[in-house]
Amino acid sequence: MSFEYAPAPESRDIVDLKPSYGLYVDGEFVEAKNTFKTINPATEETLAEVAEAGADDVDRAVAAARRAYDTVWGPMPGAERAKYLFRIARLIQERSRELAVLESIDNGKPIRESRDVDLPLVAAHFFYYAGWADKLPYAGFGPDPRPLGVAGQVIPWNFPLLMLAWKIAPALACGNTVVLKPAETTPLTALAFAEICAQAELPPGVVNILTGAGETGRALVEHPGVDKVAFTGSTEVGRQIARSVAGTGKRLTLELGGKAANIVFDDAPLDQAVEGIVNGIFFNQGHVCCAGSRLLAQESVADELLDRLKARMATLRVGDPLDKNTDVGAINSAAQLAKIRELSDSGEVEGATRWSPACELPERGFWFAPTVFTGVAASHRIAREEIFGPVLSVLTFRTPAEAVEKANNTPYGLSAGIWTDKGSRILWAAERLRAGVVWANTFNKFDPASPFGGYKESGFGREGGRHGLEAYLR
Ligand code: NAD
Ligand code: MN
Repeated sequence: MSFEYAPAPESRDIVDLKPSYGLYVDGEFVEAKNTFKTINPATEETLAEVAEAGADDVDRAVAAARRAYDTVWGPMPGAERAKYLFRIARLIQERSRELAVLESIDNGKPIRESRDVDLPLVAAHFFYYAGWADKLPYAGFGPDPRPLGVAGQVIPWNFPLLMLAWKIAPALACGNTVVLKPAETTPLTALAFAEICAQAELPPGVVNILTGAGETGRALVEHPGVDKVAFTGSTEVGRQIARSVAGTGKRLTLELGGKAANIVFDDAPLDQAVEGIVNGIFFNQGHVCCAGSRLLAQESVADELLDRLKARMATLRVGDPLDKNTDVGAINSAAQLAKIRELSDSGEVEGATRWSPACELPERGFWFAPTVFTGVAASHRIAREEIFGPVLSVLTFRTPAEAVEKANNTPYGLSAGIWTDKGSRILWAAERLRAGVVWANTFNKFDPASPFGGYKESGFGREGGRHGLEAYLR
């Protein structure tokens, strides 16, 4: 006997959407010449009209950030800066239900994740870096580490508020001021954060939020008044930014794409591994730079593992992001859906075998069923390129050495996973994997105290932990 799930919708009423939003510059919301719309990817309805910052707006925001840096924030003692950061962290907690709903409707991610993962981590990040603000002389970067000045920060759409927290919390803790540009499909929680800055009475100009698309981002990172550029997004744009910043004396950190191996050895607890594989690739619709998008299964257990994985995938609930039972929400945009489709089609054309559980997808909005490809060769595009969607490519291996070699056979190096019963094998493999984060018998675990970042084409620099301070100190 099986029971059907009754709908369990989270109420949208807690979010008070305005018809239009301005830019947040020097402590005030101001209009721009042009605007664009942000939509709910689960329904395709327009949520709000948002200002598109032009070059003159970037000028004004950078000037405001410079003024705030020179006159207020730079000279302020760390213990005083900490009070503002603690206040922001508490306001985020107070407004977390509202922010979770807003994130889910603008991005398409399940409310269960925005409520239980994104928002708690966002608050934790501000609490963590608030704690560092008065302890910088003891962080291991010399007795009197100094801030860099004005940080220009550009973030993607997959974890809008969390990426904002990763960028803004360490920058402010170290005494920098910021101009941040959220992604064009997910600007709303960054604008809610701007309100929180005002609510916390953060001095004007310390945080400026400029909405807009790639052109706005380019104007920001190329602005001569910016001392530090921090970017998270695609490797292609990261490369462009690295070129434009080269030789300017600006400091740069890049957090780019990934194609992580999740390695299951024959002695792994298979049911636990299945949970880790599902979490690794279907969490946040697979829109995760460190997603475990390549499953490497040891040949002797591969069939058994796949049977159990498919049975588990058949229980995933795809649909309304605001339903508390939903596991997999909407794909963030029509463009991202087209990219996932194109790469998945190439998998079939190149000879891999495609499988998805039966699942009914809503009529409107952007959706993609959880998908697994078997019979994948290392040369297939689906084994090499980042799909950034709920699509898993399965490869097999015979020996631990082969597993490591296959795992490292990628231009990326952001994360990796190891599933085994043996501690010695975890240490042996972790030492050989060329990835910034290696998870053992777990996956996609994040903590503000733990550094995160890439090798090779996944970028450079670290965010999070004590290491994350270094990117914002002289
Ligand atoms: P993107 O790199 O195009 O955009 C990321 C951010 O950079 C956005 O805010 C965007 O407006 C801005 N931007 C675009 N062009 C810019 C430029 N020339 N100069 C400065 N800023 C610019 O990424 P996307 O369109 O969101 O997604 C494309 C691909 O990037 C995805 O399919 C995925 O493969 C990858 N991606 C990776 C991450 C990650 O966390 N590592 C996040 C999102 C996307
Ligand atoms: Mn949106």
